[in-house]
Amino acid sequence: MITHHPGEELVAAYAAGTLDEASSLAIATHLTLCPSCRHAFLEFEALGAALVDEMSVVPMAQDAFAATMARARAGVELRLDRPPSPARQRQPAVLPLPLQNYVGGDLAAAKWRPLGPGIHHMPLISADGVTARLLRIAPGKSVFAHSHGGSELTLVLKGSYEAGGERFARGDLEMADDSVNHRPVAGMEDVCVCLAVTDAPLRFDNWLGRLMQPFIGI
Ligand SMILES: [Zn+2]
Repeated sequence: MITHHPGEELVAAYAAGTLDEASSLAIATHLTLCPSCRHAFLEFEALGAALVDEMSVVPMAQDAFAATMARARAGVELRLDRPPSPARQRQPAVLPLPLQNYVGGDLAAAKWRPLGPGIHHMPLISADGVTARLLRIAPGKSVFAHSHGGSELTLVLKGSYEAGGERFARGDLEMADDSVNHRPVAGMEDVCVCLAVTDAPLRFDNWLGRLMQPFIGI
């Protein structure tokens, strides 16, 4: 059961098409896993369509076209996320479809690069100063303790992790800002795979993290 959600503000921004590509990927992926946020998204989308209808009786607002296109894009993304045909459901995918488009397939297609003891990553997007990457953390292993120069969205896809006394499992989306200093530890039951979106370089607490930072591009 999903207990951590992106919140209405982010879902509304996604529906309006105003989020950067990396954050959009995190929200689109969460929506495929979370019926309640998907419901909120459809309501925001309907609200946006109603606003465009109203605008069309007066001279077209300059950004109406962009807003319509953004919603069309979001709609296309959501359609992509419909459950696959029965033939494809035999082996449930770990990665929802929006992510598969970036990875080039399900988890087996991921090209992992070592990031630290028990940790691998696969960079997916780096645009507008925002990056998205897959992280794979071995059971019981931890990411270096770090805080954030900006904000970080972490969406769990497989396994779980614990941070700040809270547990995050498949579908949960953790939002951390520069006031948070945490050291996520993967659960013992499975490898933890998550999608991490950061909008500024992380600030590592220890010298090893700082030493490696230029090499791993985080
Ligand atoms: Zn949700």
